[in-house]
Amino acid sequence: MSNCKRCLLNEIAGKEDVYAHVQKTRALLSKAELASDAKYDERLSVCRDCDRLLEATCLKCGCYVEIRALKTDVHCPMKKW
Ligand code: SF4
Repeated sequence: MSNCKRCLLNEIAGKEDVYAHVQKTRALLSKAELASDAKYDERLSVCRDCDRLLEATCLKCGCYVEIRALKTDVHCPMKKW
């Protein structure tokens, strides 16, 4: 499987360990801290269309977007979500 610029961690071969970290981080957050599933998906959809996304990393803040989008009180550094 080849990686594209818009791939997220759960789609990139060889990044399974990092994606597991996303899942562990999600499990550590309380329900009050977590963005809803719909909000999370909406945020990642915006990231997929953003020219700052490169192989699951936001080039503006340096975060893996699948981790950044998890917390309800965290926002996009370019105010896109
Ligand atoms: S967090 Fe914001 S700036 Fe970064 S990739 Fe997503 S939409 Fe783009």
